[in-house]
Amino acid sequence: MAADNTTGAYKIIDHTYDAVVVGAGGSGLRAAMGIAESGLKTACITKVFPTRSHTVAAQGGIAASLGNMGPDHWTWHMYDTVKGSDWLGDQDAIEYLCREAPQAVYELEHAGVPFSRTEEGKIYQRPFGGMMQNMGEGPPAQRTCAAADRTGHAMLHALYQQSLKYDTDFYIEYFALDLIMEDTPDGPVCRGVIALCMDDGSIHRFRSHHVVLATGGYGRCYFSATSAHTCTGDGGGMVLRAGLPMQDMEFVQFHPTGIYGAGVLITEGARGEGGYLTNSEGERFMERYAPSAKDLASRDVVSRSMAAEIREGRGVGPNKDHIYLHLDHIDPAVLAERLPGITETGKIFAGVDLTRQPLPVTPTVHYNMGGIPCNYHGEVVTLKDGNPDHVVPGLFAVGEAACVSVHGANRLGSNSLIDLVVFGRATGKRIAEITPRDGAQKPLAEDSADKALARLDRFRNADGAAPTAEIRADMQHTMQKHAAVFRDTALLREGMEKIDKVAARLADVKVTDRSLIWNTDLIETLELDNMLPQAQVTMHAAANRHESRGAHMHEDYPERHDEEWMKHTLLWNHNGGVKIDYRPVHDYTLTDDIDYIKPKKRVY
Ligand SMILES: Cc1cc2nc3c(=O)[nH]c(=O)nc-3n(C[C@H](O)[C@H](O)[C@H](O)COP(=O)(O)OP(=O)(O)OC[C@H]3O[C@@H](n4cnc5c(N)ncnc54)[C@H](O)[C@@H]3O)c2cc1C
Repeated sequence: MAADNTTGAYKIIDHTYDAVVVGAGGSGLRAAMGIAESGLKTACITKVFPTRSHTVAAQGGIAASLGNMGPDHWTWHMYDTVKGSDWLGDQDAIEYLCREAPQAVYELEHAGVPFSRTEEGKIYQRPFGGMMQNMGEGPPAQRTCAAADRTGHAMLHALYQQSLKYDTDFYIEYFALDLIMEDTPDGPVCRGVIALCMDDGSIHRFRSHHVVLATGGYGRCYFSATSAHTCTGDGGGMVLRAGLPMQDMEFVQFHPTGIYGAGVLITEGARGEGGYLTNSEGERFMERYAPSAKDLASRDVVSRSMAAEIREGRGVGPNKDHIYLHLDHIDPAVLAERLPGITETGKIFAGVDLTRQPLPVTPTVHYNMGGIPCNYHGEVVTLKDGNPDHVVPGLFAVGEAACVSVHGANRLGSNSLIDLVVFGRATGKRIAEITPRDGAQKPLAEDSADKALARLDRFRNADGAAPTAEIRADMQHTMQKHAAVFRDTALLREGMEKIDKVAARLADVKVTDRSLIWNTDLIETLELDNMLPQAQVTMHAAANRHESRGAHMHEDYPERHDEEWMKHTLLWNHNGGVKIDYRPVHDYTLTDDIDYIKPKKRVY
């Protein structure tokens, strides 16, 4: 392998494709499948084996108004999604999502997803939070299609098998480093992507009509996240380095009960079976915050109450930074029958026998509503010459990495899996439509790999004072403390100062392993370099939004303020700082079949 310490000496292997998908989770695989099916030459690059992508961890299910277990209609699903988004979602995109959802689920069924079944053999559907009948009036709709408690697992395996059938070239355990961008008089254009083969250290340059970023969320910016350690938002990092904006990054969803430290999810069912939370004084504090629903209040209310207890010094543990979840009063036979998975999870990840001891839990980052701005075709958009919907040719984003935006300020449970397949499919369709069939592609500029390789080389030889893990921990604790469920002016101001300093520390990072073969030290540093700017824009966006909406609860501005703030935040990473602008929320639907759903106060 002809690779040494100098940029010019890295050996580059060139490839040409019609489309390259970066990411092999549910969204990347669905996109790749559609593109390949249309006969285009397709590659899929992934840093982990496809079926190890975070989608595999999704349990609850996938929303679509099939109406198998009671009346339902796509307009009801649309209403709930708009309301769930706290009116920050784009209603044209939400209409698209909800209309297309049933078809996308049937396609999954035909692709081999082993859905659970009703007595008559139809796809089984369960109720989920915020999913109602009759335009929000109720009763609850059974809309969430499930394959037992392994829906993501089943989906991912079925989609991977289908992609193989359609002749996608997989580059597995390849780490995408950077986009190849070209400046033109009409703005930036994406021409491909550079990746490192982690196995042998070779550099691969993919020239391509289109690059689809399907790289998942950036939950690992936080200390405690339910997402996999691989969820480092690499696509967002690449986009920010390319000088393009991210959108609505202040909206981060927290689940009340992730296991402290490990972040593994403990289902809401634990509290459903009678579990309750206590602080360092042994007090069942939820009685104060939500006198009637108590521990079973909605996720955001419980998360906010826990955060308040911790901030006021009543957290448990040596650092007073978490809360106890008690199940030890429940009959062990009931636990064994109703919560066997949780009992096992508690043992493995917290070392706790929950029939005798409380579980250490903390509000845990669960989902990123923000991401790479794009339209409902998956095309990445940016603000250019006053046009908020300017399409960046050659660049697409899909899945949790993207912000279409259908989830707005708050995502409903089971609406992510459907987002993956509906917009994965839409992206495939769009690419099939617009790709020239003569195969011709302009040559890339001589220096098209230089920037990406210089960055790689800089980190590979980084010889500063701070190990990657130390800077990462610094970032994660800063985010956990300052951009959590509960925000206020002072906390956010301090958070901005701190996170900007943490980001600057990367210049002093130390990487100990200089090789290019399975250099996890280097890969983790590259991931940290992707996460830090996203942590920065998240913190700055949160400090900037002077209202409370969905997951963003600003104590000094506790109300939603539509006149001023019903707009998407756009965020650029600019000279080590953050630049902010806005895009209007789409206040129109896709067709005349449904009118724009006007904002109301969001009460459940
Ligand atoms: C524990 C848990 C449970 C959940 N349960 C549900 C549920 O029941 N219902 C629901 O709707 N949602 C659920 N969600 C949310 C949902 O699962 C995720 O939002 C969704 O699976 C994300 O899919 P994705 O395709 O965007 O990315 P991921 O599945 O995260 O995949 C990302 C892909 O990108 C690749 N990648 C990333 N960076 C690079 C790089 N630099 N180079 C090469 N490849 C790269 C990875 O290898 C991977 O293949 C859950 C989430 C979690 C964490």
